[in-house]
Amino acid sequence: MKLLFLFCLLAQSPVTDSLDIKVEHLHDVILSVDTHNDFAMALAFPERRSTVAKGQVSFEQMKKGRLDAAFFSAYQEQGPRTLEGHERAKYLADSMLRSLHRYAAEHEQLAGVAYSAGDVKELKEQGKAAMLLSIENAYCLGQDISLVEHYYRMGVRMIGLTHNGSNCVADAAMDSLEIHGGLSPFGYRVIQEMNRLGMIVDVSHASRKTCLQAVQESRAPVMASHSGVYNLKEIPRNLTDEEILTIAAKGGLIQISIGRYFLSFLPKPEVGLEHLLEHIKYVVDLVGIDHVGIGSDFDGGGGIVGVEDMGKMKTITRALLKKGYSEGDIGKLWGGNVLRLMEEVARNAGSF
Ligand SMILES: [Zn+2]
Repeated sequence: MKLLFLFCLLAQSPVTDSLDIKVEHLHDVILSVDTHNDFAMALAFPERRSTVAKGQVSFEQMKKGRLDAAFFSAYQEQGPRTLEGHERAKYLADSMLRSLHRYAAEHEQLAGVAYSAGDVKELKEQGKAAMLLSIENAYCLGQDISLVEHYYRMGVRMIGLTHNGSNCVADAAMDSLEIHGGLSPFGYRVIQEMNRLGMIVDVSHASRKTCLQAVQESRAPVMASHSGVYNLKEIPRNLTDEEILTIAAKGGLIQISIGRYFLSFLPKPEVGLEHLLEHIKYVVDLVGIDHVGIGSDFDGGGGIVGVEDMGKMKTITRALLKKGYSEGDIGKLWGGNVLRLMEEVARNAGSF
């Protein structure tokens, strides 16, 4: 009876089994990084938990999905550009970052906070997930340049210039009102300060002018941490060919989001891996495998059929292998590119 069971098990689709084994082996040697999630708000302020926060992010799910590292973002909605508004935004960002540090400390067996590419590699060697910290919306800086260093000291290694509304730093993609014509004079100083300290400039959510000006101003390559391709879905949040070509020409990255909002006009139940792969392929065809990656937007609206949460991340690897991507290319796409960018941003800071 036991033998019969074993036979049945072995007779099960050997092709499927060997692909799954290949996925596991590949994740042993590559480093996978997701460059955006909005877990922090629900963690720090459960009462403010938005309808899009669906429990898609946890260290346990990272382990299950073979995701080695993720940027956890302290997100603030855009409010009034007043002293009170800026103080409130700083309070929110500080609280979220402290909560993220506490969350990592409470799970020290599973994870740790990473401040560099080296930390990510070291944590993987220890069998732990890496939590990288970022900010979505430089609103929390108000007009105080010293706060860039304040956030660097809190562990933040990437700042998204805007969210859906224009702030004192720059104009946003989703704001019809252009107040600066791209970056403000303060925004230029913010980018210089981020370069000096070694923080990644994130242009997702930025207006087209802001994006192009930020790439030009930054001495280090920039990243669009969670975006899509405009030519495949024409919405202001997605990147045009000009933006993709400009970001890539300076060594930057276009991180494709795992969300219907970015990927397709089809109803949510019909949007899956094929749509994610279509956006990835578009960027690869336009600028090459060295400039593309994944930024899930989990707990911020992300999630598609087949990749509903962090626990399902390795299904992307499986789909890429099936499409014929080489193991080397999958390594770059999953995290090799992000680590290269992190190293370059840090090196650039040291060269001042
Ligand atoms: Zn976002």
